Amino acid sequence: MKHQRTFLNSGHHNNDEGARYGFYTESEINKKIRDHAKKKLLNGRYIPDNLDLEHSIRWVEDELKSGDDLGDLAIDIHLNFSKNKNVKGCEVYFLHDHSLAQSLSAYVSKKTGLTNRGARHMSESRLKNLGWLEQISCNSLLIEVCYPSNDFDRLFIGYPMGQIKAGWAIAEWCNKFHLSGRLSKRFKINRNLLLNILTK
Ligand SMILES: [Zn+2]
Repeated sequence: MKHQRTFLNSGHHNNDEGARYGFYTESEINKKIRDHAKKKLLNGRYIPDNLDLEHSIRWVEDELKSGDDLGDLAIDIHLNFSKNKNVKGCEVYFLHDHSLAQSLSAYVSKKTGLTNRGARHMSESRLKNLGWLEQISCNSLLIEVCYPSNDFDRLFIGYPMGQIKAGWAIAEWCNKFHLSGRLSKRFKINRNLLLNILTK
């Protein structure tokens, strides 16, 4: 039996480090979270760090072409930023599937202790549209694990324990997603059953 794949991308790449927060950059932490997720994730596929967003999307699309669509999942890992230092917590961007995004955000928050900010539609993002969500043809989500512009979140994710908790939570949720059955457009699924499994 073939299993669904999870395509995991650590946001930004070798020539774009993202925001700098005190002693670390966003891309540095994204990679650490991804590397911890790797240890737990079943059937993960990892987008090479030297690819920019456009090439990362192309990389995923090429992989998708080479396998059956069994309800694969693509997740892009980021950290958020706000001028308002009180804004903190985890949020997940989506284009089509509000409930999936809500479920991932709730799960990661529960496992890390970060505030749950829930699901956000792509149009609420600073860029207004997100290629990762728009151009990838399997289920895709973009997680903003926390806001290092907030003192609590910055300390939390700056420490290895925070990175481990976040990475493991993402991987565990993806594994549950896969165990819960196929989410491909081609297959009908029992949504209530799925959401029940995912939020446990
Ligand atoms: Zn980012």
